[in-house]
Amino acid sequence: MRVLAQVAMVMNLDKCIGCHTCSVTCKQTWTNRTGVEYAWFNNVETKPGVGYPRRYEDQEQWKGGWMLDKRGRLVLRSGGRVKRLLSLFANPDLPAIEDYYEPVTYDYDNLVNAPAGQDVPVARPRSVLTGKPTAITWGANWEDGLGGAPEHAGADPNLTGAWADKVKFSFEQTFLFHLPRLCEHCLNPACVSACPSGAMYKRVEDGIVLVDQDRCRGWRMCVTACPYKKVYVNHATGKAEKCTFCFPRIEAGQPTVCSETCVGRLRYLGLLLYDADRVGEAAAAPDEKNLLDAQRDVFLDPADPAVIAAARASGIPQDWLDAARRSPVYDLVEKYRVALPLHPEYRTLPMVWYVPPLSPVLDAVGEAGGDADDPDHVFAAVTRLRIPMEYLASLFTAGDTDVVAGVLMKLTALRSYMRERTLGEEGDERALKAVGLTAREAEDLHRLLAVAKYADRYVVPAAHTEDAALTALENRCPVESPGDVPGAPGRRVMLGIPTLRRTSEGGSA
Ligand code: SF4
Ligand code: SF4
Repeated sequence: MRVLAQVAMVMNLDKCIGCHTCSVTCKQTWTNRTGVEYAWFNNVETKPGVGYPRRYEDQEQWKGGWMLDKRGRLVLRSGGRVKRLLSLFANPDLPAIEDYYEPVTYDYDNLVNAPAGQDVPVARPRSVLTGKPTAITWGANWEDGLGGAPEHAGADPNLTGAWADKVKFSFEQTFLFHLPRLCEHCLNPACVSACPSGAMYKRVEDGIVLVDQDRCRGWRMCVTACPYKKVYVNHATGKAEKCTFCFPRIEAGQPTVCSETCVGRLRYLGLLLYDADRVGEAAAAPDEKNLLDAQRDVFLDPADPAVIAAARASGIPQDWLDAARRSPVYDLVEKYRVALPLHPEYRTLPMVWYVPPLSPVLDAVGEAGGDADDPDHVFAAVTRLRIPMEYLASLFTAGDTDVVAGVLMKLTALRSYMRERTLGEEGDERALKAVGLTAREAEDLHRLLAVAKYADRYVVPAAHTEDAALTALENRCPVESPGDVPGAPGRRVMLGIPTLRRTSEGGSA
């Protein structure tokens, strides 16, 4: 067992109001620069919808992520080294600017400098790329709140299968929810394995995936290989850029900017301990539907004495082990199992997980003439929710509706029980028992999902600079992929910035 720690994130989709504050604050921090105008390290999509870039989830088209070859070996969908080398100068599997959107600015000068005349001056849009007048026809959140859904959303790659007919894009028949997305800082990152220059790397100490700007040669193989399309090319420098998980803040014990500013308070940050020796095996699980369990099996119980001993032997400091035991991410992913990964079938083992949205289930019980206090009526309603189970399964469980139903029933039982408690009643525990929760666990999960304060949502231990020189000596990626050269340049650890005092408790509650 080789124990490593990763800073991971969970988002509770029920609470996302689609305000885009996370995207805007991320942009102001990281991509408010020439060359990356079109890049949103954090973006918020409306689902159903084609996303950003358009149809990024269609891996038949974009060739992102991993797949199993005929002999069951894990290989990049974009091809092996020979194929990648042959397409160095003409890679056909790259989104074009139209698939993202053409960034624009406005002729503001015209508003104040236009000569006097009969007409009111206007500020026409101009392309930031060419400087020429342009028409605005698409954007990073063009489909916000299902804008244009009758025309576009049917092209959502998740809408496959006979059940997709249930999704009607007409007023009062449709549903929507918001899906904030950023780099998944995967355990088995396709971008790292695809990079011919060794510029992409995953840090040993906290699992953050970064691009070394000095090593990047702009081959863009990472853009193709990332199935979430979360690597962007800066058209001014010609180099790859991506979400940094706000590593300078993380090293100082602070949450990422998107988490800090999230209006819905739906993001959670915490450590997950995992066994690096089992990552390859988990990513190569033969059946896609087993990938979720395979990834969960890689995570380790931070309270297990054997894990603690192995973690100490791996050099994980005591305060990190303490933080791992208090991790809200561990609780949501492993203890209560209500969080799910986005598209596990891409086999990158993503580390940003989601609590799926539960549409108003108690309303559904009432509409069907049922009793909102009867567990049988409530559970039956879960299968009739406006968000089709198959759609959520397509996003979070490689199509396994049973797993999604299990999570939704747990959330439903919790909601029903806490509703009674809030109304001053005893609380019927039958529904809780049916989903494997005790009353105490329900109180704990409710506290975490509904009312957790800042210090409970973000448990981020500060970096240890005294260990930086030691970890730098490791000089290699903790997770090897088929064909990797151990210790290859570029797969090294990045040194931490000077440790700052932990300030997470000092933020807004
Ligand atoms: S989501 Fe991030 S870590 Fe995973 S493959 Fe894409 S860029 Fe790499
Ligand atoms: S800031 Fe929070 S609530 Fe607003 S869109 Fe982002 S994730 Fe959703």
